[in-house]
Amino acid sequence: MEFLNKQPTVKAPAERFTGDVWLDVVVKGEPPSRIRVNVVRFAPGARNAWHRHAVGQTLHVTEGRGLIQARGEEIVEIGPGDTVHTPPGEWHWHGAAPGHFMTHLAMWEAPEDGPETEWGDLVTDEEYGG
Ligand code: MN
Repeated sequence: MEFLNKQPTVKAPAERFTGDVWLDVVVKGEPPSRIRVNVVRFAPGARNAWHRHAVGQTLHVTEGRGLIQARGEEIVEIGPGDTVHTPPGEWHWHGAAPGHFMTHLAMWEAPEDGPETEWGDLVTDEEYGG
């Protein structure tokens, strides 16, 4: 058994996130494990840029009110207890709803090679507003 060291909370980079978003790494598996789990805290109105995950991603909302959208689909509101899976390669974004904080667990795996996540454009206010 091993208690893992708590890493300092880090601010999510402005190139990939709009607004204030803070990341806590819960686990980053050592090979052969490829598990990745972060707690992600979004301030009201904050969201990540369009992106897609090589091996998909599962989100589990623990607090607040959030929004998620897959490219070409409607924006969906998410809240505590909701679990959402985005399949490998699906472009999407997620974040807090206007006027509300949102916290989710983000769970994904690194691919055997290549980048875990491909990033696109920031989500504009127009896109965010629906
Ligand atoms: Mn994602």
